[in-house]
Amino acid sequence: MELQEYAGRPAATGGRAPDPVNAPMIRHWCEAMGDANPAYSGPDAVAPPAMLQAWTMAGLGFSGNGNGNGNGSAARPGRSSDYDDLLARLDAEGFRSVVATDCEQDYLRPLRPGQRVLFDAEIESVSGRKRTALGVGHFVTTRMDLRAYDEAAGEKPEEAVRVARHRFRILKFQPGEAEPKPDGGSGTEPPLRPRPVVNRDNEGFWDGVAAGELRFQRCAECGVPRFPWLPGCNACGSSAWTAEAASGEGTVYSHVVVHHPLPAAFRAGGPYAVALVELAEGVRIVSNVVGLPPDGVRIGLPVRLSFERCDDELTLPLFRPATADDLPPLRIPVTRTLIVAGAIASRDYQDVHHDAELARAKGAPDIFMNILTSNGLVGRYVTDWAGPKAVLTGLAVRLGVPAHPGDELTFTGRVTERVTERDHDRLTVAVTGRTRRGAHVTATVRLNVPVPVPRPVPAQENPVPEGPA
Ligand code: ZN
Repeated sequence: MELQEYAGRPAATGGRAPDPVNAPMIRHWCEAMGDANPAYSGPDAVAPPAMLQAWTMAGLGFSGNGNGNGNGSAARPGRSSDYDDLLARLDAEGFRSVVATDCEQDYLRPLRPGQRVLFDAEIESVSGRKRTALGVGHFVTTRMDLRAYDEAAGEKPEEAVRVARHRFRILKFQPGEAEPKPDGGSGTEPPLRPRPVVNRDNEGFWDGVAAGELRFQRCAECGVPRFPWLPGCNACGSSAWTAEAASGEGTVYSHVVVHHPLPAAFRAGGPYAVALVELAEGVRIVSNVVGLPPDGVRIGLPVRLSFERCDDELTLPLFRPATADDLPPLRIPVTRTLIVAGAIASRDYQDVHHDAELARAKGAPDIFMNILTSNGLVGRYVTDWAGPKAVLTGLAVRLGVPAHPGDELTFTGRVTERVTERDHDRLTVAVTGRTRRGAHVTATVRLNVPVPVPRPVPAQENPVPEGPA
């Protein structure tokens, strides 16, 4: 049978979560994620939605991590022989390592303590042989349907109702055939973004950047503003000038998206947008537009100045879309404790998340964060901002560079869509969690917010020239 023929076959049938939804596991999860959302404790507690997968994890005895506890090869409850066959086939072909690459979750109803979770899953697809940054392998995608019934209240399994859907993709790969890693996944320092050349003519500009201002010049004789910095006025020739700080408001005048070849310092981040931004003051500056997918940049897009820290020594004035509200950034140091606590709280005993020696034996420089922890941190970041009344309805996560001990994750997010319903706002939030090596996680979070969070100041529309009727 071809690998692709496993598509459509069951991955798990009649699965039953080992434990009912319960307060202690929720508390351990919240402690590991640093999530203090009051919605997850007390008599009306719900389970953190991003914790979904933790309920269906089989646990230590079934992790297949060869940790010598004697039953690592036992069949997982509910797991189909087709799925076991597929994984065994991939193992036998040399694709022994596994890493989660992305997942999508739809939350239909909140889970509450006392409920028992049932699940069925199907193998959705098996990719052809792919060469990736980690090595050669196959992507395996499964789709899981989860139902729950209130066991504590005496309900029967037949009364279970659908609570969530979950699509999960893993890469089964053979390490050691990796392409050279631009992201520094080997633990080496990534190439840095080129340094600016500061000279007598432009040092006023860079002094401004150091002070958190985008400064342009204005001719002291004729008053014409100019940028980039020049010794003399193009309009009148005068060499007398003053410097002013721009308001930071602007629009995209023109742009390109750089796809290939990406300079080394930009490879980890993927394609990026270079824009000519027209400032409200009438001068134009070449910069990057960040905070949205590069193909979302368009001429006329209102943007706002943002000082972005590129590395320890370089901060640059870049631009972000001005029409949506930004979430305040959140920095989370990635400690060994966070990685291990997150893995254990999510019942993920894969050795690469707690045993550095075994992680190295599998081609990683050190232990790395599991996808459930990345999910949990994304969920926490958004609800920290949106408040305890917000209800997450969906989460789609894609993993990029791994997060290792010693990294720092910086989460940024922005509202990309807001739909006002009768009693709540339906929001879509784009979230990125970056380490210095690049994006660790890019996510789209959907949520309902009963009490509207502060709305963005409407962007000023460009006046429409009045033409002849
Ligand atoms: Zn002049």
